[in-house]
Amino acid sequence: MSVRPIVLFKTNETELRQKSVKVTDFTSDTLALIADLKDTLRHHPNGIGLAAPQIGVHQRVAVVCFGATKNRKPGPPIGIVNPVIVETNRELLDCDGCLSLPGLYADTIRPHSLHLQGLDESGKPFDWTLEGMNAVVVHHELDHLDGVLFIDRVPPNGRYYTDDETGDVFV
Ligand code: ZN
Repeated sequence: MSVRPIVLFKTNETELRQKSVKVTDFTSDTLALIADLKDTLRHHPNGIGLAAPQIGVHQRVAVVCFGATKNRKPGPPIGIVNPVIVETNRELLDCDGCLSLPGLYADTIRPHSLHLQGLDESGKPFDWTLEGMNAVVVHHELDHLDGVLFIDRVPPNGRYYTDDETGDVFV
């Protein structure tokens, strides 16, 4: 288990734009990847999610923290493997940031209700309905697995911020 360097947009956009592949065998390597993602995310106190391509691994694995609000610390990171969105609802404007684009924030539109399936961090299938910030963080991390970044989700009149003026967490 170790804290890994985060791939940054400004120096390595190509790596962040690469599509990740499905995990075909859930092995000790998968567990080690989840552990590294958790360690790396814990190293960044404002982060509430991290996807494998952000540490240079192009597999469909991410860690997310649930229960975040502007005033409440989220729960511990949990791993998700091969997540698939079944349905999205309640597309709403929110503010996004990303550990791969430190210091930049912007308005984005994302679903605030998500039906998600995949494997949990022990390799067992899950079927979740996520609401609010939980849906937003998962949607942001799933985007990373397809090489999509939050700057691609800014609506035509969306605002950009260069400081954490909003006090929001970022992912
Ligand atoms: Zn991100």
